[in-house]
Amino acid sequence: MELLDTYKRPLRDLRISVTDRCNFRCPYCMPAEIYGYSYKFLNKNQILSFEEIERVAKLFVEIGVNKIRITGGEPLVRADIHNLIHPLSKIDGLNDLTMTTNGYLLPSMARKLKDAGLERITVSLDSLDPETFKEMNGRNFEPETVMLGIDEAIKVGFKPVKINVVVKKGVNENSILPLIRKYKGEDHILRFIEYMDVGTLNEWKKEHVITADEIVKIIQKEFPIEPIGENYIGEVASRYRFKDGNGEIGVISSVSVPFCSTCTRARLSTDGKLYTCLFSNIGHDIKTLLRSDKSDEKLKDFIAKLWGARDDRYSEIRSSLSTPTKKTKVEMYAIGG
Ligand code: SAM
Ligand code: SF4
Ligand code: SF4
Repeated sequence: MELLDTYKRPLRDLRISVTDRCNFRCPYCMPAEIYGYSYKFLNKNQILSFEEIERVAKLFVEIGVNKIRITGGEPLVRADIHNLIHPLSKIDGLNDLTMTTNGYLLPSMARKLKDAGLERITVSLDSLDPETFKEMNGRNFEPETVMLGIDEAIKVGFKPVKINVVVKKGVNENSILPLIRKYKGEDHILRFIEYMDVGTLNEWKKEHVITADEIVKIIQKEFPIEPIGENYIGEVASRYRFKDGNGEIGVISSVSVPFCSTCTRARLSTDGKLYTCLFSNIGHDIKTLLRSDKSDEKLKDFIAKLWGARDDRYSEIRSSLSTPTKKTKVEMYAIGG
């Protein structure tokens, strides 16, 4: 029988954060002032091992998940990450195995990931302009390496490569059109994401958001586009195709037009906690159960009960929430985007 939450939403996607570390310090996610050289990240014993992740992933697939996204932190900074991809790619019943990465280490790793069985990849790239990109990554990195990573991903057979662009007002809205000029076509799908109030550290304000509507208007000035339907129910991006027939883009409107009513996503944090919403303040401890002698059945019962009780719809009620609630949200890099 299909596992449904209190709003009758099935459990379909699992996002797994494989590390809380990152080589970038994007101010909207891990501001450099807070995550400095003395910041204590999780130690080896606190994070799930590859074997533990594989076991949980199998259990999730047995109770309904058919898509897994590997994320972080930056998944490519976890040592030998391809050795996790391989067993995950063999799980019966898993239809889609994908990863979100900032792409900086991709030039040397794309081939290994493909050979290990990764099916799709999303690379984040907020600007082609070196100064704007540096501001967005907090680390003075130039965009060229990420662009090489995208090229390499195409070369080894990840096609199309999705490219995530977080749009922050006053910072990178001028990067939207240059990104389209560069990546328009069949090989890439740009996805423009409204800047979200994830976590507690990015000093998010509504005034920093460029809405999906505004993004579409900017694009229409140079590239006529028209909406197309969803690939599947619960797809986060609204899709548009270029009227000249050469490619498509996505726009993710989590703030201006929330999509909680079709949200089928669970998230597993680096330290083995299950979150049923990106904006949740409660993580349910799976790691302790994994490290005790609990059977697979007991673990599946635990997950199924949590999902059955799920009533999250943060983005739909965001505007009615008081500020103190925001103080306790989990940080995005810990549970993945
Ligand atoms: N490090 C990888 C990366 O950046 O692609 C994976 C983890 S990152 C948390 C996943 C995605 O979340 C990225 O595309 C990132 O741009 C996006 N993201 C992070 N903070 C965000 C925010 N405040 N609003 C919207 N998207 C955000
Ligand atoms: Fe790192 Fe990704 Fe967060 Fe940027 S968005 S700090 S690349 S985890
Ligand atoms: Fe899903 Fe929570 Fe985002 Fe709504 S706010 S779409 S429930 S993750």
